[in-house]
Amino acid sequence: GSIPKIVILGAGYGGILTAQNLQKALRHKEAEVTLVNRHDYHYITTHLHMPAAGTDSIEHARVSISGLIDGSRVDFVKSTVQAIKLDEKKVILDQGSLDFDYLVLGLGGEPETFGIPGMLENALTIRSINSVRLIRDHISYQLAMYKNDGNPARLTFVVGGAGFTGIEFVAELADRLPILCREYDIHPQDIKIINVEAAPTALPGFDPELVEYAMDVLKGKGVTFRIGVPIKECLADGVIIGEGEKIPAGMVVWTGGIRGNHVIEEAGLEVMRGRVKADEYLRAPGHDHVYVIGDNSVFMNPEGRPYPPTAQIAMQQGAVCARNIAAAIHGKEPQKFKFSNKGTVASLGRGEAVAVVGGRKIKGWVAAQLKKIVDIRYLFIIGGIPLVLKKGRFF
Ligand code: FAD
Repeated sequence: GSIPKIVILGAGYGGILTAQNLQKALRHKEAEVTLVNRHDYHYITTHLHMPAAGTDSIEHARVSISGLIDGSRVDFVKSTVQAIKLDEKKVILDQGSLDFDYLVLGLGGEPETFGIPGMLENALTIRSINSVRLIRDHISYQLAMYKNDGNPARLTFVVGGAGFTGIEFVAELADRLPILCREYDIHPQDIKIINVEAAPTALPGFDPELVEYAMDVLKGKGVTFRIGVPIKECLADGVIIGEGEKIPAGMVVWTGGIRGNHVIEEAGLEVMRGRVKADEYLRAPGHDHVYVIGDNSVFMNPEGRPYPPTAQIAMQQGAVCARNIAAAIHGKEPQKFKFSNKGTVASLGRGEAVAVVGGRKIKGWVAAQLKKIVDIRYLFIIGGIPLVLKKGRFF
């Protein structure tokens, strides 16, 4: 008979870990493994707020996929997934198609704008290398334009959403803009960085004492918070918030929500905001040969509430998903997925961060070092010491 075909969609945290663990769990020629991704590089999403603000280079936030997988065991296909035909066990790519016996959905999330008018059209988002380039260049463009037309609104930078991504990004902006001001002959006092959040607190769900610390650090760097105030509309030249107040701005970055991938929704799987509720073995309900991981999945904690979508859970799911596919091929029992929370760190820019690790609260310089360790640990897991030396940030 023919050997089983495993197709992994997406080379993000979940997809890379699935591919790497399948390499280990399967014997040579036991299955045909194909990894599909839109770009020939894997991006380190958790690091994208830095190149977005210009505080680090783009090269530190991406890794060539060919260096992460063993080409003799996993075929890499650089292509965009257009559609998934579950009944025909086929994936349609922008060129050609792939048949599968086992499918892994790891296409990651897309921005959720909650239907806020103009957000999709006018706001920038931190979601890929290409979207990040746009933000970085837009900041410089507005500063250069200000020097030509003197329009003060160009110096207002609005970030929608004060979750982890929003907070980490405003922190980098606050670090970066004073440096750019010197380059563009602009008074740093003329710059406004405004973080707007509809929820009653920044970093919803995080420890309140650390939230207060984080906000104090960022206020000290010049960030203005508008908490408990929803963005009602996003315009080409600003936002309307609360009861109709307009904030004229040169740039709006939306970090206020993410949802699953539209390709998953269109495949006819049952979804909640574009995410598939995975069973305890990480399979899509009713489809024993389809696995969902990372931001494409919703996985419930023992209390029945969904875990927040993070790189951490995506990686752990990738490893278990690989083991379960290998078990299915070997006729063995699958393993239930259990999330092991290693803690949460939010960076607040240079030398500052907040973290909760093993129930302990950590802040300031120590937390910032922890963030670097988390980043380096990830590089080590996917690429060993050589990748740590090539892409790691130690200072
Ligand atoms: P992704 O990593 O998003 O990967 C999906 C891949 O699929 C991408 O390579 C994409 O190009 C590809 N793709 C998408 N559509 C297609 C298509 N149609 N065809 C082909 N390829 C496609 N989490 C943490 O745990 N800790 C943090 O500190 C943290 N910080 C964050 C900071 C920022 C700025 C952001 C944006 C997110 C952060 N997260 C963090 C969340 C974390 O990045 C995500 O939860 C994680 O990336 C999800 O992994 P994934 O494998 O599901 O998808």
